[in-house]
Amino acid sequence: MGAVRDAVMATLGSAEPASLPALVVRCMACGAAFAGDRPLTRCETCGGLLDVDLALDRPVRADAFGVGLPPTLRHSGVWRYRPLLPALPDDAIVSRWEGNTPLYEDGRLGEYAGLGAGELRLKHEGHNPTASFKDRGMTVGVSHARAVGARIVACASTGNTSASLASYAAAAGLPALVLIPEGKISGGKLAQTIAYGARVVQIAGDFDQALTLLRELTDAYDVYLVNSVNPFRLEGQKTIVFEMLEQLDWQVPDVIALPGGNLGNTAAFGKALAELLAVGLIDRLPKLAVVQAAGAAPFAAYHAGGYARFEAVVAETIATAIKIGNPASTARARRSIEGTIGLVTTVTDGEIMDAKAAIDRVGIGCEPASAASLAGLRRLVAEGRIAPDARAVGVLTGHVLKDADAVVAYHLADHDGAAREGANRPVSIAATLPALERTLHDALHG
Ligand SMILES: *Cc1c(COP(=O)(O)O)cnc(C)c1O
Ligand SMILES: [Zn+2]
Repeated sequence: MGAVRDAVMATLGSAEPASLPALVVRCMACGAAFAGDRPLTRCETCGGLLDVDLALDRPVRADAFGVGLPPTLRHSGVWRYRPLLPALPDDAIVSRWEGNTPLYEDGRLGEYAGLGAGELRLKHEGHNPTASFKDRGMTVGVSHARAVGARIVACASTGNTSASLASYAAAAGLPALVLIPEGKISGGKLAQTIAYGARVVQIAGDFDQALTLLRELTDAYDVYLVNSVNPFRLEGQKTIVFEMLEQLDWQVPDVIALPGGNLGNTAAFGKALAELLAVGLIDRLPKLAVVQAAGAAPFAAYHAGGYARFEAVVAETIATAIKIGNPASTARARRSIEGTIGLVTTVTDGEIMDAKAAIDRVGIGCEPASAASLAGLRRLVAEGRIAPDARAVGVLTGHVLKDADAVVAYHLADHDGAAREGANRPVSIAATLPALERTLHDALHG
């Protein structure tokens, strides 16, 4: 035991100290400031959550984005917003052309949400290099890890963070250590993580236990943690909002809806909006609408109780990416919701899967957790909390292929001996023309 520890310490301790004078992180609870030249995931004074402090005190013009960047960064939908990101040195940056995701509009989904009189757009983050929004945070997190001389990067994950970390660590030539809850992540996400070469550790427990265990390790050793407690990762995720607003010609929508799991994205969106307001790129704020799965909704309960008392839960939902009972960014998410006079709601697994089927059926597709955005908008409009003529953007966080098992189960499962309404079951036929003619007839008339 002692020999293992000594060998690890000797290797990790040999990293060269970085000099990054422009990087400052600040505690959101007590305001203490720290130099951002080393891995920091909690305030050393009070244990609070940290923000990167960009000191944005001058106006930023929209035509400044993408200008004057080295070619490797110009094409990144994250790094083109460099004036609103931490000042990392060029040679530390690991980019995979992340971001640049589409902003879809489909009237059928607008009708589904009850926004037929308004506008619904869907920002599809499944179009990132590893097929979830996690890549936007990972390019900044792994680049910061390189800038501070980290020897190894690590995360606990419900699948998408690990797939993204594995890819970016491989691109950077850094070893990656990934903790996942055994048997609780989708096959596609596990396959990505293994393929990109991360060391995968399956633990007998859930995501919340995996993160707690990993934080014990990263507190004791110089292992660079990229979970969303890391303030640099959230900086990259801000660019979902930057790019969305640029695509909307900086015309602020009424509502931005997103799924809430560990609440890192909720935190990042609130910070992004506050910064856009501070530099004069927008003149008002949209409401953020956070949607949790009913079986994994500790933040919704905290919000409903007037933030009097937070209670973690044991999470249960089909949407594994948001199956989190003790969200790490709870305090930051509260700030985002209070700051935008936002909305919080829950949806059942049934509502999630029906909304997902609707998104899939128009040819867009997403993983289960992503569909919470649409299911939540539909519920908020039905409850009169969002006006039917509102302009809304829903964020689709991951790609349809992330969880193929969920698709197959939805469309092939029996419901009281019959197919679910709207299910798309493959048919099996004899290899004859008459049999194929019958299917052609059914396809045209059925
Ligand atoms: C990570 C993730 C979420 C949850 O985001 P948080 O920042 O943890 O709230 C939702 N959907 C997908 C597909 C994800 O990968
Ligand atoms: Zn503090």
